[in-house]
Amino acid sequence: MGIAPIIRERRVLKGKGKTPTSPRPGPTRKRRSAKPPHPSRVRRRRGRRLAVFLTLLFLFGVGYSLVNLVEEGRAASVGSSTPATEPSKDKTRKVSSSSSTCDALDVLVDRSHALPSDYTPTDLVPLRDYKVATLGSEALRREAAEHLGRLVQAAAADAEELVVASAYRSYHEQRLSHERLRSVFGAGADRMSARQGHSQHQLGTAVDFTNAAAGYQLGVPFARTSAYWWLEHHAWEYGFVLAYPRGKQDQSGYHWEPWHYRYVGVADAKRIEDSGQSLQEFLEKAGTTPHC
Ligand SMILES: [Zn+2]
Repeated sequence: MGIAPIIRERRVLKGKGKTPTSPRPGPTRKRRSAKPPHPSRVRRRRGRRLAVFLTLLFLFGVGYSLVNLVEEGRAASVGSSTPATEPSKDKTRKVSSSSSTCDALDVLVDRSHALPSDYTPTDLVPLRDYKVATLGSEALRREAAEHLGRLVQAAAADAEELVVASAYRSYHEQRLSHERLRSVFGAGADRMSARQGHSQHQLGTAVDFTNAAAGYQLGVPFARTSAYWWLEHHAWEYGFVLAYPRGKQDQSGYHWEPWHYRYVGVADAKRIEDSGQSLQEFLEKAGTTPHC
């Protein structure tokens, strides 16, 4: 490509009686076009180009047909002898991507996954029946309540006081609670409290702890109590996991809540503890989504 402009430049400079700056009349064309080729040569050249074009067209057509045949053959052989394409697709899906019931302990309830307004666990039991101190008449699902009873007793044996400030909340109770917060904090309430349907408390497996050292309040001061540190080390042994840890706000969508624990069963709590994952990370990968 760089040669043609140089040739044109030389021809301009060689022109008789013309200065380098004088314009050359007429269009500047390549040397070979200055002398028109013989018509028979033009015909031969056109003929060769046509032959090349037709050859390429033929090869492309044959090649395309061959590719189609190979693909069809493959599809036919897969369809007839190896019906394993569907199971292989299944392997790429999560093993348990959806739950037929929201009673599953590993159901993912977060800012994007909501429980229906009419979901209520059927096995709620009062925590007082399990010798758990509460600020009101709190309830949890039976299995969670049994494990919480053991957890609180073990903490008491280590001289740690744990009182449940809040446990199961219905869809409508959560709506009232959230609306109260919104009236005070505006849109900021969405990072402090879940909207109705999006609260783990509706599952009947989440508890909010407090104690005398925290003034029986819910808040970050609870994280400065020795009971909080006891939970950090022992809660998983009873199947409970801190749901909204410090520094994971972008993941969970909620501020750090050192008081809020969720029961997921001892096996999963141990998996979460051993892997170092947050509850949110774990449930996004291995949990189920609510379809109930
Ligand atoms: Zn809570």
